[in-house]
Amino acid sequence: MKVIIDQDKCVASGQCVTAAADVFDQRDEDGIVVLLTDNPPEERAADIHQAAAVCPALAIVVED
Ligand code: SF4
Repeated sequence: MKVIIDQDKCVASGQCVTAAADVFDQRDEDGIVVLLTDNPPEERAADIHQAAAVCPALAIVVED
């Protein structure tokens, strides 16, 4: 699976980090999302899809 983020859309709410802290992080200075890996293992799929679903800015796209 492939994960794509749009930092310009991100509103720094942090739900993605709560859902999958091994895939998403936030910049210290402004809280904007940072992708830790854009090609995570399949066993993380459920949490990553959850992160994309709860993102209020629709800033996360998951390609299976
Ligand atoms: S959930 Fe969405 S808006 Fe919130 S930090 Fe993550 S990518 Fe940004």
